[in-house]
Amino acid sequence: MPRPTRKRVEPIRTEALLVRRVPVGEADLIITLFTEARGMMGAVARSARRTSKRFAGLEPMHLLRVSLEERAGSDLALLVEASIAKPRLHLTTALDRLEAAGRALRWIRGVAPPGTPEPGLFCTVNDLLDALDVAPPEGSVNAHLATAGLRMLGNIGFGLVLDRCVHCGKPCAPEATACLDAEAGGLVCRACGGARLVVRSALRARIEAAAAGDDAAILAEDAQVVVDLVEAALSAHAAPAR
Ligand SMILES: [Zn+2]
Repeated sequence: MPRPTRKRVEPIRTEALLVRRVPVGEADLIITLFTEARGMMGAVARSARRTSKRFAGLEPMHLLRVSLEERAGSDLALLVEASIAKPRLHLTTALDRLEAAGRALRWIRGVAPPGTPEPGLFCTVNDLLDALDVAPPEGSVNAHLATAGLRMLGNIGFGLVLDRCVHCGKPCAPEATACLDAEAGGLVCRACGGARLVVRSALRARIEAAAAGDDAAILAEDAQVVVDLVEAALSAHAAPAR
């Protein structure tokens, strides 16, 4: 009787970011990749801690090129090959940049569902890592992070609503000071209960400009409040834990 031929499965070749690595057993790694082709993916990298040849540069921050084989009956793919497509060597030399990048990767891990391509999110986080790699001006690291965070919200379909109340839809005049509830997704008018955070019109305009693509809109002094906003909004839309 002829042996049943094992169906040859084409490996998935894609660019990816390493978002988590957990050592398992003697030499293996369980990794989480944010891939361009399939979004979040878990994979096993066999003997990755023993031989670095097949898995050169399996480190966070660099843009990687990977080959993965899906395995029947398992949530974890098999990492066949990994190499660095674009190194980001300067990013890892400054603590503040590394921290900002790490935070962005945590955000991604929190909101990107497994197995679903998120091209916008992939692009936004890679743009941020590139910007952090080319020595951003003193004090602007968190402004970059804040800007990327606002865009991530847009990428996943939860961009902050800043021109009207998210509850009743009442428009808010551009020059007005407004109450912003990030977890609710944007402005909340006083009739609907308002919100603890009060945002002046100028900052509201800068947040809107940054979300829409202006890289220089968020000022250093805005960064912390915007990062906090992003974090609150993202956590309200976190993907189920896995
Ligand atoms: Zn309202």
